[in-house]
Amino acid sequence: MDLTASVRKIFISQIHLIIMKINDAHCHYGRESFDGAVCRSKIWANKTYEALKSDWEKYNVEKSVLFPQPLPSSLKKYLIEGIFYPFGSSLLRDIWKKFFNYTVDYSKTNEEISNLQDDKIEFVPFISSKFEYSDLENFENIKGVKHYEPYGKLSGDLLKYLNERELNLIIHISEKTEQNPEKFLKIVEKFDGINFQVAHCANGVSEIIEALDELPNLFVDTSACTLRFYKVVFRSRNTSFGEIVSTNVEKVLFGSDEPWAGYKAQIDQINELELSNRDKSRIFYRNYLSLWG
Ligand SMILES: [Zn+2]
Repeated sequence: MDLTASVRKIFISQIHLIIMKINDAHCHYGRESFDGAVCRSKIWANKTYEALKSDWEKYNVEKSVLFPQPLPSSLKKYLIEGIFYPFGSSLLRDIWKKFFNYTVDYSKTNEEISNLQDDKIEFVPFISSKFEYSDLENFENIKGVKHYEPYGKLSGDLLKYLNERELNLIIHISEKTEQNPEKFLKIVEKFDGINFQVAHCANGVSEIIEALDELPNLFVDTSACTLRFYKVVFRSRNTSFGEIVSTNVEKVLFGSDEPWAGYKAQIDQINELELSNRDKSRIFYRNYLSLWG
């Protein structure tokens, strides 16, 4: 990179801090369990409320969708994991899940977030694949839920529940959906009362990216797209973050994916694209409002 380009980059990121407001559509709270974090980008992924508040001030964040970690840590869980499988062994984890009817318990961390009194927070409960109405009955005025498909497929009960109440669904898709995106897209088409926000730019799956144009209730977020893992995934699908975002400026929402990715890198990644300020403000701020405003 030559000197002019470096100066330009620094200038743009400083200007951003002064003028651009952010709505963050994808942010985690709390500590990830050790075995959930191992083999990922961070071994001790953790974000406290205090740390979030200071980031929100620093990066001009007006609102943030906030949900627990994919595997919120707990002493009970550590003990069970310690007894039943050595850390990091996904094969044993899968066996444990299958035969012992194991699901992640999000209740404690959901409760913690819902009790934070902060206008910036849009609390979105994380729900397990074994959805029960009681998971959500305690929470008032929620606008949507987060579901992590690799831990179990979407249940019909959940889809019906969300559809009837016109709630949003943030979804991290599984490998199965990556291989069979048509099935997922039929669900999006059928449950048109739900706005679907697919995390990580839908892992660059071309069928899902192309459908952004056709399905009004389908969106993606930029969470973690700065990580090498997703760059490699996009390249293997003959696409790039820049291409996905530039061709869908009205359907992409900014997501920090704290603490996995981080505000600065996630913001810079969008600022470095050749987009007008109007399009950047769509991604950083305005598109969020059509789902969460
Ligand atoms: Zn995430």
